[in-house]
Amino acid sequence: AASPLFADLAGDIGVSFEFFPPKTEKMEAQLWETFHTLEPLAPRFVSVTYGAGGSTRERTHATVARIAKESPVPPAAHLTCVEASREEIDAVARAYWDAGVRHIVALRGDVPGGEPYRAHPDGYANAAELVAGLKAIAPFDISVAAYPETHPDSDCPQADLDNLKRKFDAGATRAITQFFFSPDAFLRFRDAAAAAGIDAPILPGILPVSNVSQTRRMADMCGTSIPAWMVSIFDGLDDHPAARQLVAATIAAELCRRLYAGGVRDFHFYTLNRAELSYAICHMLGLRPTAPAKEKAA
Ligand code: FAD
Repeated sequence: AASPLFADLAGDIGVSFEFFPPKTEKMEAQLWETFHTLEPLAPRFVSVTYGAGGSTRERTHATVARIAKESPVPPAAHLTCVEASREEIDAVARAYWDAGVRHIVALRGDVPGGEPYRAHPDGYANAAELVAGLKAIAPFDISVAAYPETHPDSDCPQADLDNLKRKFDAGATRAITQFFFSPDAFLRFRDAAAAAGIDAPILPGILPVSNVSQTRRMADMCGTSIPAWMVSIFDGLDDHPAARQLVAATIAAELCRRLYAGGVRDFHFYTLNRAELSYAICHMLGLRPTAPAKEKAA
């Protein structure tokens, strides 16, 4: 039909945004500009990633703590258990609780350098154990990772779903998926999770892609497939950054539209610390800025 892209949207959308902790002053300025652009869209939460092994421990904490202090948007701190003892992880979690942070995205993480995963001898063996450990520390709201195209370490989709179930049984309240480009892959996964008795929300992780070669590197590591049409649609746009952005927004908006048609109402955006694409897609999803957020009282 010739109807506009999002003509049937009913304004019942919830979004969340993911950032990474900035390394330099320039990147820091970029992050806060992005944050302040997206903040008026009233996200349900924003999350900040964590370098596996604790490489960004201080930077993640500083970013999350600043959001907790200055914004009404609830921040979520990612935390990985790879290459760390339980004691170290527990100390990080307690510091978050003390800073007023109530939401943790609990992850296993990967061994740097692409080596096979091995648990730390005194550590949490996997994300499910980490969730249980965090719950023993404080009543955190806990999100976990899910994989519509199956985690590369998993023997089969069912084993991966069993693992997701263990994370919910340990106390997680929602899952956020790895990025994907096939709406059917997500919807099938959601239905399989429901059939396995998982009734908690599973948020699709939306990565607005404007650079296929960069995305391919990330996709190879996490088992996401890049469809052939996506490669060919960006072919010839290397020297046309503005056109690339427009194509990127169109592709991601179409993905969201098809997810919406499949009943999805909550969307998690991998912003890569850039506002424009996520903002444009949220706008097409029907979101409009609310009144400027007031500074939190000290
Ligand atoms: P787990 O849930 O522990 O599972 C990993 C795999 O091992 C699964 O295939 C599972 O089936 C298998 N497995 C687990 N336990 C067992 C068991 N007892 N027996 C058999 N198999 C088992 N990485 C970072 O470093 N920092 C981040 O901030 C970060 N944020 C992320 C955010 C999201 C939304 C997602 C989707 C991923 C993120 N990652 C991050 C990547 C993540 O750390 C990797 O994908 C990692 O390889 C797996 O983490 P997990 O928490 O899913 O692990």
